[in-house]
Amino acid sequence: MVFYRKYRPQTIEELDSKEIREKLYNALKSPEVFHAFLFTGPKGLGKTSAARIVAKVLNCEKKTKGIEPCNKCGQCVSIANGTNLDILEIDGASNRGIDEIRDLREKIKLSPMSARKKIYIIDEVHMLTTEAFNALLKTLEEPPSHVVFILCTTEPHKVPGTILSRCLHLQFKKATEDELVRSFERIIKKEKLAGEKDALRLIANLSDGSFRDGVKILEEMALITKDKKITKELVQKNYSIAGIQYKIAQMIRSLEEKDAKSGLKVVAKLASEGVEVGHFMQGLIEALHNSLLFKIGVEFVPGNSALAIDNSKLEISEIKKLIELLSTAKSELKYAVLPQIPLELVIVEWGILPSKEAGPAELHPRPTSSVASLLWLKIGGKGI
Ligand SMILES: [Zn+2]
Repeated sequence: MVFYRKYRPQTIEELDSKEIREKLYNALKSPEVFHAFLFTGPKGLGKTSAARIVAKVLNCEKKTKGIEPCNKCGQCVSIANGTNLDILEIDGASNRGIDEIRDLREKIKLSPMSARKKIYIIDEVHMLTTEAFNALLKTLEEPPSHVVFILCTTEPHKVPGTILSRCLHLQFKKATEDELVRSFERIIKKEKLAGEKDALRLIANLSDGSFRDGVKILEEMALITKDKKITKELVQKNYSIAGIQYKIAQMIRSLEEKDAKSGLKVVAKLASEGVEVGHFMQGLIEALHNSLLFKIGVEFVPGNSALAIDNSKLEISEIKKLIELLSTAKSELKYAVLPQIPLELVIVEWGILPSKEAGPAELHPRPTSSVASLLWLKIGGKGI
């Protein structure tokens, strides 16, 4: 995780999300400083990194580029390495009582030691007790001019409306493919590597909107590439996307034929190759989901790396049933004695379910070969 730490965003410009960048620029460039920010969104999307950047923007001693922090002065450096005594990071889960908040209110009155602004970053703020929230609200109603709060939470619905209404709310979302590619390009450039756009897109797809996961893959690729070049082929080879997609196609074929034996063979192969069954099931469900949307007439979402099957032999009702069975099986995965068992049971159950009787749909011509019915529409953005 060297890259992740090394390339954690240090300026507003380096944050993934365009929306967050714009909101922060607007909020921080005005001379009237907000006294409270609320950062919401799932874990791992950079809320804490953004909070530290705000702390630096408000305290940097040598701003050179507009409002961006210099990352060199005493304030910036001590904030980045967590030693600045005026920047207090508080975990809401372990400081949730009224006594802690009262204590905090007392200390808030004191002026900062060296910084311009005292910054209180309260993580998991939704964990505070009602009494603690009430005490916090009193502070937010009349905050001393030297104090700025940054409240972070994964569960904004648990934060009282009276608190919400006093904060500038920034919602952190999963990064889009373009946003992740932008961040990867920043790293590639600094590491003096070359990266194919398609390779970066594929990594973005694999990391499902998480900068942290994406950077981890990027780092692995940087370590194994021999010529400082990250190609799509390299990523595919090492993440055996093509291999997994092929097995998903095989599995769908066996489900179409209700051929439990060949389905179970695919599972055995997965197990012997050490492919994570949960990952495979996720891909299978996504492929069926795409197929379902396609059959209903919803356009295929570009950038979706899942396999698209535009005319599988399965009926809409069958796809629906399979998605239900597989979703349940996937949720049971963590309790399974062997990871392949839930998937195997779906295959067996599906194999013994009575076939649909020939309905009106059967009158329409269908592909004779199920192999022909598989279309590799999208793998990592483009055809293989
Ligand atoms: Zn600075």
